[in-house]
Amino acid sequence: MLMDKDEFKAIFVNNLQTMFGKGIEEASINNKYMALSRVIRDCISKNWMETNKQYSETGVKQVYYFSMEFLLGKALDMHLVNGGVKEIYREALEELGIDLNELEKQEADPGLGNGGLGRLAACFMESMAAVGIPGHGCGIRYTYGLFEQKIVDHNQVELPDNWLQDGYAWEFRKADKAVEVKFGGTINSSQQGERWVFTHENYEAVLAVPYDVPLAGYHNNTVNTLRLWNAESLHDTFDLASFNRGEYLEAMEYRSSVGLISKILYPQDNFYEGRLLRLKQQYFFVSAGLQSIIRRYKKRYSSMKQLPKRVAVHINDTHPAIAVPELMRLLMDQEELSWDDAWKITTETISYTNHTIMPEALETWPVEMFKSLLPRMYMIVHEINERVCRSLWDAYPGDWERIRSMAVIADNMVHMARLAVVGSHSVNGVAQIHTDILKEHIMSNFHKFYPKKFNNKTNGITHRRWLLKANPELAGIITDCIGSGWITDPQKLEEFGRFDTDKIIQEKVRKVKHNNKKILAKYIKEKTGVTIDARSIFDVHIKRIHSYKRQILNVFHIMDLYNRLKENPSLAITPRTFIFAGKAAPGYYIAKQTIKLISVLASLINKDKDIKGKLKVIFLENYSVSLGELLFPAADVSEQISTASKEASGTGNMKFMLNGAVTIGTLDGANVEIHDAVGDDNIFIFGLTSQQVFDYYNHGGYDAWQVYSSDIRIKTVLEQLVNGFLPYQREEFRPLYNSLLADNDEFFVLRDFDAYAKAQVELDKRYKQKNKWIEMSIHNIAQAGIFSSDRTICEYSRDIWHTKPVVITKP
Ligand SMILES: *Cc1c(COP(=O)(O)O)cnc(C)c1O
Repeated sequence: MLMDKDEFKAIFVNNLQTMFGKGIEEASINNKYMALSRVIRDCISKNWMETNKQYSETGVKQVYYFSMEFLLGKALDMHLVNGGVKEIYREALEELGIDLNELEKQEADPGLGNGGLGRLAACFMESMAAVGIPGHGCGIRYTYGLFEQKIVDHNQVELPDNWLQDGYAWEFRKADKAVEVKFGGTINSSQQGERWVFTHENYEAVLAVPYDVPLAGYHNNTVNTLRLWNAESLHDTFDLASFNRGEYLEAMEYRSSVGLISKILYPQDNFYEGRLLRLKQQYFFVSAGLQSIIRRYKKRYSSMKQLPKRVAVHINDTHPAIAVPELMRLLMDQEELSWDDAWKITTETISYTNHTIMPEALETWPVEMFKSLLPRMYMIVHEINERVCRSLWDAYPGDWERIRSMAVIADNMVHMARLAVVGSHSVNGVAQIHTDILKEHIMSNFHKFYPKKFNNKTNGITHRRWLLKANPELAGIITDCIGSGWITDPQKLEEFGRFDTDKIIQEKVRKVKHNNKKILAKYIKEKTGVTIDARSIFDVHIKRIHSYKRQILNVFHIMDLYNRLKENPSLAITPRTFIFAGKAAPGYYIAKQTIKLISVLASLINKDKDIKGKLKVIFLENYSVSLGELLFPAADVSEQISTASKEASGTGNMKFMLNGAVTIGTLDGANVEIHDAVGDDNIFIFGLTSQQVFDYYNHGGYDAWQVYSSDIRIKTVLEQLVNGFLPYQREEFRPLYNSLLADNDEFFVLRDFDAYAKAQVELDKRYKQKNKWIEMSIHNIAQAGIFSSDRTICEYSRDIWHTKPVVITKP
């Protein structure tokens, strides 16, 4: 990075001139943002070329992380922090009369993901570059990211996220590296000597053009690559004269249908939508990614047999599981390897992460659809299935039921999770409890058959974005106490624990939290018009809106608190501000009703003078990485209250902890490990365990009506949904009411209510002991090091990818 202030100013001003033909006075804020980005981009690109050169020369193993989603967040500020130039550039810009914060607001937040899975991919990218792992991302350059959410008359409204409209400063189009991806058509087979040759005819070809985004490490010279593929029509230049009218229209139709492939991100989290276009997207980026990996590999190596020594391909959930047959195709049809050699290379190259046990999220494609869109893929999957079933038959002769439950093709469906398990050498869950459930329940048959494949890799988050960048004042206190080593070695955060009872440090931590709360309060005032008190407890529940995440449980607790306050306005509770944010999938009715309920309840409670401002409810629009960076640092309480066994890991829980919020949560996902790390006294755990949840599901016995009729608080709150208590159409929330009673409350909201309410009482008590609370807060921060994605990435490298960090020397 450029460290000299005057040199920086000269280049910045020069960029304005060459990019826009403008001086500082005429240039718009966006011009200035682009000119600043260009300064950084140019510095990074030198290291980028050097990194690629050194990777090539040393032949070090490369990791390719295939993911349908990368929820990156803004890049500019992260580059300034990681490059160690933020303060220098801020001052330099100030001397030019420019406010860096204003420029940062210009940047679009690329929402190329739905939630945790996409954000995990982004955290992994950041950590790989920081740690020095040669790791690259492969995904789709969606023209429209996840929709922008607005709340209009209490309803979620979805607006298109046209994030590319002003251009994206951090991408490099690499037209010369484009590849072809083929859809449909027919496969002809013929024998040539010993070999079977497969030729693909009458297919529709699409051009995949890569846009590369640099991923720079922290204070090192490593710059890895995120390669996002854009779908374009193959024949850019038409010989228009030779086209009659009909052909012209056909050609245009083709062009516009091709563009569709990388147009939109499917907006569902933890839910499978079996559309043809989705399968097209999956094959599109997987085929393009694998082709470009093989092309690069072949520049240096002649034998494909060494591929697993030089390349690891990791698939983030089953969305890219078609990598298994596609790599087989490339090795057999293009590189002329035998099935057995290709299979060995494929399984040794590919590894797979499972992200959910929710049955509605499992991907299965109808055979007919799969076969007609991807005929060669189907042939290979069919052969894989035959071979898997044969070996299962050998192990379990006559056990049809077991074989059917493990077959890659069964009941006329292609089962992508089964394909991913058989086609990879490693299958991991994302938190210990989740991996245990995979091994013992969901994938127990596979675990028995391939015991060594299964392993756990508890998720993590990059502490550089979520603490160093998002909460610079807290980061400053920590560095003052223990030095800056924690930035590259997050386990060192533990040393901050020594200051948990230090009165001076406690006071500093309290002040920073208070300051962050004031910043958030100002934002909330601007966005919603509601005044909130920074001295109240900020109780924050932010994540996708989902029945299993149980925002409704939180809402019921708020309604009960409100009822008690109405009855007894002098009830001695600490004033609380309940803050929600999160998007609902556009077609997910109950999730949208949940948002509406929160919004309606907020309008009732926030203007009620009787409760003397002891309770406020806020729903913030458009949860995104940027909004998260404002919310996590300002939270006192982290709501992690999913039905036990349902949340594979969670990563929001880790961001809160790292910023000193205390968790109230169930023993689900990574909450279990957070509980282990901080101990009983520094977390509020409540509710059913996953074992109890499984017992209810397997043996029946849960009766929501019984809980309803025996707990007056629950009865009251539920009736308030439908008795005109809420200032909205009376029948509006009947479906929600029914889901909890008539449909017997699938996620045990009523069952866990009492335990949750008790945990909240405990929490309130503890908050009143000011020093105790700060002590807990410091303890949470100090124990957050193991939840850094640096740790996660090192474990993947050591156990799955078998890669080592490399130091990139200066150009
Ligand atoms: C971290 C994060 C998530 C994941 O949150 P969970 O609470 O783990 O579901 C989702 N969206 C965004 C924008 C995030 O930053």
